[in-house]
Amino acid sequence: MRNYEDSYRHKGLRKKLLDSLRDKGITDENVLTAMTNIPRHYFLDTALEHIAYQDRAFPIGEGQTISQPYTVAYQTQLLEVSPHQKILEIGTGSAYQAMVLAEMGASVFTIERQRNLFEATKKFVLRSRYPGIKFFYGDGFEGLPTFAPFDKIIITAAAPFIPPKLIDQLKPGGKMVIPLDEDGRQKMMRITKNADGSLDEETFSDFSFVPMLKGRN
Ligand code: SAH
Repeated sequence: MRNYEDSYRHKGLRKKLLDSLRDKGITDENVLTAMTNIPRHYFLDTALEHIAYQDRAFPIGEGQTISQPYTVAYQTQLLEVSPHQKILEIGTGSAYQAMVLAEMGASVFTIERQRNLFEATKKFVLRSRYPGIKFFYGDGFEGLPTFAPFDKIIITAAAPFIPPKLIDQLKPGGKMVIPLDEDGRQKMMRITKNADGSLDEETFSDFSFVPMLKGRN
């Protein structure tokens, strides 16, 4: 069960959470505004509602989690989103991240490999607010060749390597934000594809994600 009422109390808790993200170094006002506009408690069972505005990850079923708000803000900030950009997300999960990107005006394509999570998202009430998001059931390692190329690609599960097919699907000048697992440590990386096809890599802080897995389930 979920509570789809967004009261003043919820809004107040959300503002506090967003202020704490500012204190932790998030500066992109478009990211902060988008997250202010999306009721995070809509994504969680009522049993977890009282802690929905804490800065932590939560279970969403199938052993998966909705990412911690700081992580969502951090990845989205690194992605440098502008309106109308075509963005591919790997790991729809609760669809929170996808909706943050849509709220920022991006054209979002998102892939989930867990059938049950994909089906649950179909019935999610907030979906009508973001009719432009395109949801796919599939393996993110394959990307979406039919809809490529993308301006940006965001991976929200820990990848064992940089998926070559996703690099192929990135526009020249495009960027990918990816938590890369190296011996159990997950480093946030940003890959920029140059006009000549070469790649620039930047490494940021360590994070904790569920693993990016092959195939569908
Ligand atoms: N962006 C999500 C985070 C969900 S956790 C949110 O905002 O809630 C990561 C998700 O990635 C999980 O749902 C998991 O099932 C999915 N995932 C893992 N490997 C994948 C793959 N190869 N392709 C697509 N989705 C994958």
